[in-house]
Amino acid sequence: MATIETEAVVLRTLRYGESDAILSLLTPGLGRVSAIAKGARKPTSRQGGRLQPGVRLHVMLVEGRGDLMTLRSTQVVDAGAGLWVDGYRLLAAGCVLEAALRVVPEHEEAAASFNVITRALVLLRATPPREGEPRLDPIVLGTQAKLLAASGLVPRLASCAACGAAPPLTGFSATAGGAVCTPCVVGSGAERLDPAAADALVGLLSRPLADAPAQVDADAAAGVERMIALMLREHLGVTLRSGTPLSVTTRPR
Ligand SMILES: [Zn+2]
Repeated sequence: MATIETEAVVLRTLRYGESDAILSLLTPGLGRVSAIAKGARKPTSRQGGRLQPGVRLHVMLVEGRGDLMTLRSTQVVDAGAGLWVDGYRLLAAGCVLEAALRVVPEHEEAAASFNVITRALVLLRATPPREGEPRLDPIVLGTQAKLLAASGLVPRLASCAACGAAPPLTGFSATAGGAVCTPCVVGSGAERLDPAAADALVGLLSRPLADAPAQVDADAAAGVERMIALMLREHLGVTLRSGTPLSVTTRPR
């Protein structure tokens, strides 16, 4: 059976059986893959402690019959130190990993997404905690915007996404694929466009991730998150749990 050596970021670790773990990994060449780490949860395992979400590894994977691979060996490339001691950064990193988990397809080349996620995890270590929610941190929003672009879903924001008209654009319609003019708002299910948020999203899409903090004012962050969430829901059927709820959810009692 084929053996694959690759770099990987751990997106999620699930307990499996008595002592195994099933990992979701993000790799450049294979996108998202699932792999079983046998014995990883035994107290004597040298591997187990390394397999935490956010850790970057060099791994050897063995292909199985189905989609589940077997993790044969791991070397830590970057343990993500500094990310896990701070509540704000920890939560922001969790949002970044969740976005990759939900948006990057399985078993498809994903070098761009891999680079975005590894870059985001490095940047978040040095990011100063902001006022407000970690999920609205510019690095988190910039990561989501770039994953959107990597999925071929760059929203059209410079001219009407429905009819091509020049600005002014007053609405945002994920169905149309971006900002829409006033005549196209009617009947398109468009929401009101926040011009500051639209500018911020253009900045996030066109600038390197490291420049994200300069692109997003605190006032624009929720609007950026909303546009990304609408695109993800409309075109990929994905709702990020870390993001703004798109419908009211009832809390379990
Ligand atoms: Zn139009």
